[in-house]
Amino acid sequence: MKKTQFKAESKRLLEMMINSIYTQKEIFLRELLSNSSDAIDKMYYKALTDENLAFDQENYFIKVTADKEARTLTIRDTGIGMSKEELIDNLGVIAKSGSLAFKKENESKEGHDIIGQFGVGFYSAFMVADVVTVISKPFGSDEAYKWESTGADGYTVELAEKDSVGTEIILTIKPNTEDEKFDEWLETYRLKGIIKKYSDFIKYPIKMDTTSKRAKEDSEDGEFEDFEEEETVNSRVPIWRKNKKELTDADYEQFYADKRYGYDKPIKHIHLSVDGAVRYDAILFIPENIPFDFYSKEFEKGLELYANGVLIMDKCADLLPDYFSFVKGMVDSEDLSLNISREMLQHDRQLKLIAKNIKSKIKNQLLSLLKDERDKYEQFYKSFGRQLKYGIYSDYGTHKDELQDLLLFHSSKAKKLITLDEYVANMPEDQKYIYYASGETNERIDKLPQTEMVSDKGYEILYFTDDIDEFAIKMVMKYKEKEFKSVSSGDLGIEADESEKTTESEESDNKELFEYMKAQLTDKVSNVRASKRLRSHPVCFSTDGEVTIEMEKILKSMPN
Ligand code: ADP
Ligand code: MG
Repeated sequence: MKKTQFKAESKRLLEMMINSIYTQKEIFLRELLSNSSDAIDKMYYKALTDENLAFDQENYFIKVTADKEARTLTIRDTGIGMSKEELIDNLGVIAKSGSLAFKKENESKEGHDIIGQFGVGFYSAFMVADVVTVISKPFGSDEAYKWESTGADGYTVELAEKDSVGTEIILTIKPNTEDEKFDEWLETYRLKGIIKKYSDFIKYPIKMDTTSKRAKEDSEDGEFEDFEEEETVNSRVPIWRKNKKELTDADYEQFYADKRYGYDKPIKHIHLSVDGAVRYDAILFIPENIPFDFYSKEFEKGLELYANGVLIMDKCADLLPDYFSFVKGMVDSEDLSLNISREMLQHDRQLKLIAKNIKSKIKNQLLSLLKDERDKYEQFYKSFGRQLKYGIYSDYGTHKDELQDLLLFHSSKAKKLITLDEYVANMPEDQKYIYYASGETNERIDKLPQTEMVSDKGYEILYFTDDIDEFAIKMVMKYKEKEFKSVSSGDLGIEADESEKTTESEESDNKELFEYMKAQLTDKVSNVRASKRLRSHPVCFSTDGEVTIEMEKILKSMPN
């Protein structure tokens, strides 16, 4: 039989694609199942406009069958099928998508559910198969055709037998080589795993025959026998497409556990169904505990990304800013395409919009947690507060407006964590600055001589016990027009009483002592002088520059 050659470009493209677009071989199954789902969708849309055609759910399914002996993997669907011309057009020309054409024709009507549009997915089958055979009978015809190809060297088309409308794709799985085993593509458990991973939310049932053991009837000594059963592998309706009102906290927690987002219970979930400039559904979780690998190099931030119910990426990092890297969850958008590479995604406008949107939703959720469920927020803050502070410090403070309202610090007065907003609201009228003191622990800060004068004035002090605190605050600079001031800075901005003002004489009377101390402490202090800020302590350090003593300690301890 005459073999039709792929066009030269197609040939090159095919090789390129097989070797580069897809990094994981297992996605071939996702691509073929998506095509089958598209084909059934097309029947569904036909039925919507054709009165004589009833769409009876039961008749529409996909069946996956592995035959180890014959080394074939068959994917059969009851979709719309392909005519001889369509086999040639859609499968013979790479990068030609019948599905994209269908979508365009149906733009004004339904059709946006269809996944395909690039016209390359089908060829991923050649990553695992030597020969790909497609037998198809299109809707409204009595003739079936068989298309067959061994990859880059072309294809044949001939008349074939097929009872029912639909398509059957038979992959002859490659033999094992020394470097690579292909047997796994014939293992039921492996195939089921892939279906669950990528295609769990295909609307139509994906069926497989699975063998399991059962107790033999009438057997007294507990003998078992194998029995084969047809099973629907996919769960079909994703939780994010379900009505929020019908879902309970337990449902979300179950999803969190099923997805292995974490082993803890999430503190909060966010379920979004956005229908604006960009359409997407998302379920996001704020975990309770720090994942064990959170501060390790292995930790990868990101959300699962689905294109219309089909998983396209495990961890899409572009969806989350670093300071929200603790957020887990998924995004599903019908505006994204299936065969998109990481590089293309980075520049995807839709994705950028989604990321921006998600960022503000997370922030708002955290703010409302802070407002309405303080205990939970503090629990969250214990785990991830540092992350927020690093967020403020990073990128030259560009995220401070985003994050400053989420900060909490221990307060000298309230003796608990307070927000900057609460601090400012409690300031006496004559107080100019927001005061803070740095130290290793709250107890140590309590004992700092530098805090005495500020406290005596009746002013509140924020306790900075995290390395990052002071660095982050330097980026914030001001909160509600109030500047931050360390209690150990030279000028505290506190008006001392006239009677308490350091007099010239105090300085001159002790001149000799001060000179002596300064000489003894050369290289350690730049000046020694009289101060009014102390109450019960004889002496304390203070700084005039930008960098406080505590910051200096941290900077010195950092590896260069
Ligand atoms: P895409 O899905 O992006 O359009 P593919 O390479 O996966 O590209 O498929 C090419 C075309 O082949 C599809 O657009 C569709 O028209 C046709 N096709 C593939 N598989 C099937 C199938 N199982 N049933 C009907 N048509 C199919
Ligand atoms: Mg496809």
